[in-house]
Amino acid sequence: MSDSVNPMGGLVQSARRLVVKVGTRVLTNQTHQLDLSRIDQLVEGISRVLNSGRQVILVTSGAIGAGLGVLRWGSKPKDVAHLQAAAAVGQGRLMHVYAERFARHGIGVAQILLTRDDMSHRQRYANARQTMRVLLEEKILPVVNENDTVAVDEIRFGDNDELSVHVAHLMDAQLLVILTDVDGFERRDGKGKRELVPIVKRITPELESFAGGAGQPTSTGGMASKLQAAKKVTACGIPMILANGTKPGVLTSILLENRLSGTLFLPAGKERIAARKRWLAFTGRPAGAILVDSGAIEALVAKGRSLLASGVRKVDGSFRRGDLVSVCDEKGEEFARGVVNYTQEDLSRIKGLRSEAIESLLGRKAQEVIHRDSLVILKG
Ligand code: GLU
Repeated sequence: MSDSVNPMGGLVQSARRLVVKVGTRVLTNQTHQLDLSRIDQLVEGISRVLNSGRQVILVTSGAIGAGLGVLRWGSKPKDVAHLQAAAAVGQGRLMHVYAERFARHGIGVAQILLTRDDMSHRQRYANARQTMRVLLEEKILPVVNENDTVAVDEIRFGDNDELSVHVAHLMDAQLLVILTDVDGFERRDGKGKRELVPIVKRITPELESFAGGAGQPTSTGGMASKLQAAKKVTACGIPMILANGTKPGVLTSILLENRLSGTLFLPAGKERIAARKRWLAFTGRPAGAILVDSGAIEALVAKGRSLLASGVRKVDGSFRRGDLVSVCDEKGEEFARGVVNYTQEDLSRIKGLRSEAIESLLGRKAQEVIHRDSLVILKG
């Protein structure tokens, strides 16, 4: 391959656990059949990466795409029930092919189907992590897809780019590789000519304007969702590579030969955000919102303090103690998230009050509304 040496290769080479996401257009052809020669290349690449001592979690699309082929449906149906049926048929076919192809390299595979809802519940999130940890220890490759059959719109990840971000966070991965059928992230120059961006240091609004929409017949993602994925992982200190999965040998070239193929998105901060805070920031779904005054914003954002009832102005939604809630300014704009120590009823009663008043009202010792360790600042 003619790709140049990766000047930031250390970031990539030091990753011991990585998530590789493969899109429908890499895995299937125009007639909705699984492209077995591409799958063989992918399997070969992943096997070599595993043999180099790294751990890999594969996030795969292609269930709906492959299902269309098996069912002999010429185009992607519009209604959810038919899409889910196609996914149910195609997922089996997909896993069968992976199991058979990886077995040739002596690698066992395990199917993990997740929904957005699973990730939002801490217990189920923890269960998924435990299961995948055991699989990795046992040297079995976890193969993850969205559980398309049960995922309805409001609880969908929407596309597997988003799913791969959550899996990277869940498993504390040090690198996310997204394989698609384009060469990487492209910008347009003044004359409208496209040029590949090899390294993205920061995702600016200008870069986002080059992303465009999704709109492929069988896949869901598109460049906009790739950039969203890059934003979410890099914000947590995880680098991401977007590369062309139809190029033979792309994975080994990037991971074993230190070539820069596609686009490398550099991590935003120097530090990786701890797993629990990543869940708070990106995965959990807030049950309600707490609107706070400017003094509280200052204490939380600038001074790194906990949220106290005295700074709370308004309480929205219905939440219990221990739920994840949004913390917003008085206009309702969210700037932080955290785990709340009061029910919404109790918090409505004690908002604006100081500790002594809370104690006499509730008859028990006052607590922080959200403790600093269970709070993550999203912006500010
Ligand atoms: N879960 C879908 C499938 O396997 C893919 C979603 C996507 O294309 O990102 O067909």
